[in-house]
Amino acid sequence: MIIPKTSEEIELMRESALIVSKTLGMLASEVKPGVTSLYLDGLAETFIRDHGAVPGFLGLYDFPNTLCMSPNAQVVHGIPDKTPYKEGDIISIDCGAVKNGFYGDHAYTFSVGEVSVEVQKLLDVTKESLYKGIEQFKANNRTGDVGFAIQQHCENHGYGVVRELVGHGLGRTMHEDPEMPNYGRRGRGKLFVEGMTVAIEPMINMGTKNIQQLKDGWTILTKDRQPSVHFEHNIALVNGKPELLSTFGYVYKALGIESDEEEAYRQDVLVL
Ligand code: MG
Ligand code: MG
Repeated sequence: MIIPKTSEEIELMRESALIVSKTLGMLASEVKPGVTSLYLDGLAETFIRDHGAVPGFLGLYDFPNTLCMSPNAQVVHGIPDKTPYKEGDIISIDCGAVKNGFYGDHAYTFSVGEVSVEVQKLLDVTKESLYKGIEQFKANNRTGDVGFAIQQHCENHGYGVVRELVGHGLGRTMHEDPEMPNYGRRGRGKLFVEGMTVAIEPMINMGTKNIQQLKDGWTILTKDRQPSVHFEHNIALVNGKPELLSTFGYVYKALGIESDEEEAYRQDVLVL
């Protein structure tokens, strides 16, 4: 059952989402060769608690850490460890936070120093597909419209769209209805309703769409061990249109990136 939110609840969700956005922004300047995921995980936990929130993933389904950190061929749900990053790696960081009973849940794939041209293309196309999906999250559309837009863009570039893991509704629990697949058929799936809040999160592989899971019971990685990229935003359906609750603005500020990609989907004025 889809649970629409009141405008007050949407503001609380924005607060939670922005704590995650700020956490990713803090991490952005820390991602460099020699750093470990376990170190960044500790920084993130402290940062989230200092902002009056609680890590959203820690203990959820018994996950052991604050961040899911998935380098290179890992798709999602990687467990932070002591392996130092090296130049040319990519690291997908997925972060959750709970405040006032509402979850924020968003993710960014960072480059460690300079990455190859091929990897940069995968990063660019995956992020483009996220916004193509968000554009379709509007009145009278369905989950299949979002999935189709993401799938078409990524497959046009020859990339694999992971099937087993999907976006989702978000609110007082981490995973609400509906499922938001990154593939689909136009006009199919669940109808969007005013006030609903979702996480849209393409997980896109350079090669095959097929995945495997490590024996740790968590880590998902590509079957062919080629790289995978993950970007995730939180969005509310307001006045029939997609309204971003999360932002990559803090990441971009830390990295010195200029971008107007979020402009069409914001009503609030971000103070970075
Ligand atoms: Mg997430
Ligand atoms: Mg999610």
